[in-house]
Amino acid sequence: MLFDELSNIEIWFIITILFIIRYGILAGMFFYIFYVWKKKSLYRFKIQSRFPLINQIKQEIKYSIMTFIIYGSTIWIFLYWIENNKTKLYTDINDYGMAYFFISIILMVLLHDTYFYWTHRLIHYPKIFKHIHKIHHSFHSPTPWAAFAFHPIEAIISIGIIPIILFLIPYHQFSLLIFISFLTLYNIFIHLGFVIPGIRYFKYQNTTMDHDYHHQRSHCNYGLYFNFWDRLMGTYYPKGRMKNKK
Ligand SMILES: [Zn+2]
Ligand SMILES: [Zn+2]
Repeated sequence: MLFDELSNIEIWFIITILFIIRYGILAGMFFYIFYVWKKKSLYRFKIQSRFPLINQIKQEIKYSIMTFIIYGSTIWIFLYWIENNKTKLYTDINDYGMAYFFISIILMVLLHDTYFYWTHRLIHYPKIFKHIHKIHHSFHSPTPWAAFAFHPIEAIISIGIIPIILFLIPYHQFSLLIFISFLTLYNIFIHLGFVIPGIRYFKYQNTTMDHDYHHQRSHCNYGLYFNFWDRLMGTYYPKGRMKNKK
């Protein structure tokens, strides 16, 4: 079936390199626009006054690449489940129809938001935080390169959403691909460090300001795509401020 001609090592290598290339293109694009090319003209939209040191960016990239090596390594177990028909994969879009194809992506996003919120709360428990999540929070003024800069255990926790989706939601391979690409893009976006005016399309959407404030203060705004759970659990703090409005 999938990757029939390739050895496990080749599959691992190709998947990992593809993850890193996708991340490099997306994070690199945002970084180049906001931190290099339009750095001066967009400075008024920068949330925190200071720009990160080159050393911070190197650390963000190093930990993100480690995360993608871990993500790439998990592909073996996922392929084993998929090839042995243990997941809810369907290959013909007509089996469930086009409407369901898009609904399944929305379901994945909602499920992931819930998974992210609660695992994020978990790794903020002080005894866990100091061993695991502290690395991600060492980037007080995050850049797009920080989006996947995790301790290896946090990387494993974060990839835990994939088996939940594979076993719970009937999915087409392209719906999963769209979801993972959207996840990557949105995670990079919330670490941008700049406000993009007009990008909040609805009240419950998590924004760059919300997540930047999480990096500054920790105990609020745990969500990824939305703030439903933050509002429900009383952890939503919407009043992150721009540097020049303090
Ligand atoms: Zn973050
Ligand atoms: Zn956190």
